[in-house]
Amino acid sequence: MKAAIFKNGKIELTDFERPMLNGRTGAIVKVHGCGLCGSDIVKYKNQSIPDGTVLGHEIVGEIFEINSKTNFKTGDKIISSHHIPCFECKYCKNHNYSMCRHFKSTNIFPGGFAEYIYLSEEHLQNVAHLIPDNLTDEEAAFYEPLGCCVRAIKRCDLPKNSNVLVIGLGSIGYIMAQGLKAFGMNVYGCDLIDDRINKLKSVGIEAFNSSDTDYCIEHSKKLTDDFGFDAIFMTSGADATIDLALKTVRSGGKILIFASTPKNFGYANNEIYYRELTVMGSYSPSPDDLKDSLNLLKEGKVKTHGISTIVNINDIQKAFDDTISNKIYKAYIKISE
Ligand SMILES: [Zn+2]
Ligand SMILES: [Zn+2]
Repeated sequence: MKAAIFKNGKIELTDFERPMLNGRTGAIVKVHGCGLCGSDIVKYKNQSIPDGTVLGHEIVGEIFEINSKTNFKTGDKIISSHHIPCFECKYCKNHNYSMCRHFKSTNIFPGGFAEYIYLSEEHLQNVAHLIPDNLTDEEAAFYEPLGCCVRAIKRCDLPKNSNVLVIGLGSIGYIMAQGLKAFGMNVYGCDLIDDRINKLKSVGIEAFNSSDTDYCIEHSKKLTDDFGFDAIFMTSGADATIDLALKTVRSGGKILIFASTPKNFGYANNEIYYRELTVMGSYSPSPDDLKDSLNLLKEGKVKTHGISTIVNINDIQKAFDDTISNKIYKAYIKISE
């Protein structure tokens, strides 16, 4: 079968042995397509993965062969995420599901940018779902990334009507802002790129350009009765983001980190101390977060229509290049019909 592997710093198409059930429980899924995630881009750019790795985990596909206790059957169109917590360890008992060792060890095989993958029985039971009829494949591919956003929103645990600013309006900022709105927050967004600002405005969320920091600080005060935002969601790892977050959050407020930074900046000890800030990270979703994500997509509370660029797997290198150069907002790699 065809699969895209990381090799010598590039993504290259190769002939890969098709996964088989061979008596195992689980399913072989024919992959229709797979979203290109920011985390794939980070791994590619940092060259932090071994040659031969198949990236991709935001999969949409169809069950090709199955041996399972679940009700799924051959031909079912499904979405799935890639990691499952054990629900029993110290991490899981403290709701740090994405830190669970089992969570980190589970995966789809060989990866989403392949014609076929193996999904274990555990995946089928916990994180795989039928695709609702009203969603296209590209829309359904937001199931896992939106699950990550739902987790971040729940972790922040804000009262309804809190004033929240999303810094960075790439595809994640776009769905994060809509998710926050669906959870009852007063949401605003900012970015350096006008196209992205207008995209968020088109779904009824106010957004502004953040290239002038002084303007941002003034505008943030104006929007929040002079307090600053109750919470800042950082979906951008650009250098200026941390500074902007500290300048626009109210004292006693929360900063949710949802992006890696190129360097380790350390943390703003004295600001956190004197201003009683809460700074927290949020990484990957639990099965419950994923269910919430699917409902938000199904009910149209988070709209993803028309925001993905569909790229054939034969052009996957270009999808990586164009995403890095901001030519593409979100790539959906089409693998089969
Ligand atoms: Zn992802
Ligand atoms: Zn666990």
